[in-house]
Parts: sequence; structure tokens; C-alpha cells
Amino acid sequence: MNRRQFLKSALFTTIGAVVLSACKKVATQTKNLIDKVSTKKYKALDISVIGFGMMRLPQTDGEPDIAKTQEMVDYAIEHGINYFDTAWFYHGGKSELAVGEVLSKHPRNSYYLADKMPLRILKDKSEVIPTFEEQLKKCRTDYFDFYLAHNINKREWETLKNCNVYEQLTQKKKEGKIKYLGFSIHDTPELLEEVVNTYKWDFVQLPINPIDWKVVDAKKQYEIATKVGLPVVVMNPLKGGQLSTLNEKAVELLKNENPDVSPSSWSLRYSASLPNVFVVLSGMTEMEHVVDNVKTFTNFKPLTDKEQNVLSDAIAIYNSSGAISCTYCQYCTGCPVGIDIPKNFLIYNQYKSNGRKERFIIAYEAIKEENRADKCINCGICKNKCPQQLDIPNLLKDIASLYKDLK
Ligand code: SF4
Ligand code: SF4
Repeated sequence: MNRRQFLKSALFTTIGAVVLSACKKVATQTKNLIDKVSTKKYKALDISVIGFGMMRLPQTDGEPDIAKTQEMVDYAIEHGINYFDTAWFYHGGKSELAVGEVLSKHPRNSYYLADKMPLRILKDKSEVIPTFEEQLKKCRTDYFDFYLAHNINKREWETLKNCNVYEQLTQKKKEGKIKYLGFSIHDTPELLEEVVNTYKWDFVQLPINPIDWKVVDAKKQYEIATKVGLPVVVMNPLKGGQLSTLNEKAVELLKNENPDVSPSSWSLRYSASLPNVFVVLSGMTEMEHVVDNVKTFTNFKPLTDKEQNVLSDAIAIYNSSGAISCTYCQYCTGCPVGIDIPKNFLIYNQYKSNGRKERFIIAYEAIKEENRADKCINCGICKNKCPQQLDIPNLLKDIASLYKDLK
């Protein structure tokens, strides 16, 4: 190489290095500019205040849509959401598989994963560990950060005790396969008291939202957990989506106070404002939900007293509409004559929200005849399954009469 060639080559190398370094700097700055959601402390962990509930994933042909879920999860992680919650029953067992597929694209230490023991399907104690091992496999992980006994009610409480569920899961905790052991509950404060006083738990998952706070003892349950020092994960903060739509008058009130935020953001912030809550789960179905949640929880601030009052007024307006407090959780499925209970309640609530008679008639007639409210034979089987303790047969009767009247 002659001198000229040497100088030319050195010049290009220097320019290349400068350009590369500038690109790296821009990339780092761009990364630093990405909005990240706020975190709360759970012991030594920094958990995003908003968690990704994997029970209402986007679907194609009745199955979780992996490509869309991946996109949403990638966005969530990029914006600091680090708590993901799944369960055996979600999407008929497909949520855990979807979670395994999409989260395995991310380093295991970049998120916390919660799963749950399906108490309802356990027949005896020999089924606990194989079920747990299968969940690990489905989720493509060696351990769960958070693991819960799922949906304790009077019947499942007996199952939990008879099948030695707590003892067997505690063993898994000792083996490092569970980091923190808790439970979720949809029942009375009395049962909650019994559960927290029988075993030593690390956390509890409770349904909390501005409607249930007063109507179904959520306040009392939160206070019980707080009194015994159990940090709380909030489920159902939007009451099955009711709090994201409300009704026109309630939404108008919220929009007058702050036109730039969604109705959902009010109720999510409501639960997240409770000091003993460390994460609020939101079942996200569309990218729009993830983006809105990131917006709500970036620089999260608890509701002010004024905001609490505005929300309380909006809830009062909504409650006066007579909507059924169904969360569309689907726990009441399996009606012997095939009534689609959540669907009937959903269209009724939509009618209560928008008052559009023709829409209600069209929606009711779109339900298959055998799944409609008027086919209920009042056997009462569904009543014991409803965590909201709704008088399902009578409510169905009201819906059937409403259709008759409007038609
Ligand atoms: S009460 Fe009606 S809706 Fe409930 S399980 Fe019986 S038939 Fe089905
Ligand atoms: S009626 Fe009860 S069990 Fe059925 S979907 Fe609604 S809240 Fe859930």
C-alpha cells in the first residue's frame, strides 16, 4: 500500500468509526426516550403498576392470535410492563401455550410470570404436581415468579385442603420452581379471613374496581389483606369491560374533567392508587389497549381527591342505569339447556348503556335460539358458580320479558 492509499484507507476507517458511534448514540438516546410505565415495589422487585392479563388475547378462529399477541407483548415489554398473568382455564388452556410462545422471545429475567393451580379440576392430591409440571412446560419456563391457588370459593377451599395443595406447592417453592405463592378469591370476606389465617401466603389477588368497592365487599377484602400484611394484585379492575364503556352520561362527566384520557384509565388508576396494591391486571385484547395502558401508567399518579369525586359521580350515574354487574368471566358456563348467560347479560348491559331498542332486538335475535334467555328452565345450577352472586335465572327472566316488550 503506498502512502496515498494508506491515508485514504485510514480516513475511511475513521469516518466509519465516527458514523457508527453516532448511530449507537442515537439508538441509545431513542431507547432512553421510550416511555416506560411506573413501577411499585413488591419486596425487592420493581413490578410495573400495570400487568398484562392474558385471559382476553386477540383471537383468530377461536384461538389466540399469536402474531398479534407477540406484537402487543413486545410493545408492552419495550415500555416497561413486566408482569404477565395466565391460568390453566384462560382460552380453554391455550393462553398458557400462547404465553410460552410469545414470552420465550424475551430473556427470562426481563419479566415476571404468574400462573395458577386449577383447583376446580383436581380430583385428588396426586394430580397437583403433574398439573404444575405441565404448566411449566406449556409456558416454556423452569419456574413461576408468582403462583396462585386459582379462584378459591367454598368448594375449591375444600379441594385445596383435601388435596394438600398448599403443602405440595410449598415444596415447589423450596425447590425454587415458585418464587412467591398466593391465591385468588372470588368469595366472601369471611372465607378470605379463613384462608389467610390457615396458611402463610406471600400475596393475594382480589377483584377490585370502583363498582365492587362498595357493592360486593371489595373494600372489606382489601382491608383484611392489608391488615395481615398481604400485598394485593388487582384483577377485574374494569369489571369485565363495563368500566371502559360505562354509559354516555357517565363518560361525558369523565371527559369534561379530562378529555385526553380514556374511561378505562380512571378505573385502572383507581385500583392502582391503593397503597397495598402492587400491580393491576388488565386483560388486553388489542394493541390500542396496550398503548392506552402505557400512556395511563407512564409517570403514574394516584387519583386526586377531586378525581375520586368525579369518578364516584360517574359510577353513580352508571349504576342508576340498572346494568347487571356481570364481569363476563364465563364461570357460569355449562348450563344444561345451553343458555349463553354472559352473552345475554352483555347485550342487556349494552342496551342499558345506549338505550337503543332496535339494537337490542337485533342483538338478541343474533343469539342462537337455544342460547337465549327465554330458554332458561330455572334449574339454578348456574347460581352457585357466579362469583358476583347474581340471581341469574331471574335476571334472564327480565331479559326475556324485555325482548317481548320491545318487540
Ligand atoms: S338456571 Fe337457567 S341459565 Fe342457569 S343453568 Fe339452569 S337453565 Fe341454565
Ligand atoms: S353471570 Fe356471573 S359467572 Fe356468569 S359470566 Fe357473569 S359474573 Fe361470571
